[in-house]
Amino acid sequence: MTQIFFHEGDLPASVRFSGSVAVDTETMGLELHRDRLCLVQLGDGQGNCHIVRFQKGQYNAPNLKALLADPTVLKIFQYARFDVAALYLYLGVLCAPVYCTKIASKIARTNAPAHSLKALCQTLLGIELEKEQQCSDWGAEKLSEEQLKYAANDVLYLHALKEKLDALLEREGRTAYAQACFDFLPHVGELDIAGFDCETVFTH
Ligand code: MN
Repeated sequence: MTQIFFHEGDLPASVRFSGSVAVDTETMGLELHRDRLCLVQLGDGQGNCHIVRFQKGQYNAPNLKALLADPTVLKIFQYARFDVAALYLYLGVLCAPVYCTKIASKIARTNAPAHSLKALCQTLLGIELEKEQQCSDWGAEKLSEEQLKYAANDVLYLHALKEKLDALLEREGRTAYAQACFDFLPHVGELDIAGFDCETVFTH
């Protein structure tokens, strides 16, 4: 059963995650310097989702920052690059350690035509995700039930996907490749915010 908890401005100190936490963010758009961070969603892998909402310019969230930087808690994302950069820019915290289900899928599942959250949930878990709230107004004063459910959905299946993807990486002998990418990922977020195009750094 899914339970959604809504918090204004920060995670309460009483909320704890041990081992790992699924993380997603919602922003006003895809241009991070222009489009502010509105929500951070956190899933415990047991069906509980904590949603932290930020008002414009108010990003003082010590409990959330401590969790994102905690070296003993693995942060699991789908397309970590964007979220890590957003969290770094707005909260000033570089997430580590991280795991990215999209990267794991690209490295383990070279047969697969798509690596979106929708495609991964469909193929690996047999779950149909709805994505129609993706472009809704996350800065709205009052978020609708549909928006909150959608936001929660983006973190509810990441633990289950990680388990499936880890098994595939292991089977194909590619666990170390994926891990090397995860280890480097926080620095990609840092480079993105600094204005470097990471792809260009690695090409001739
Ligand atoms: Mn999302």
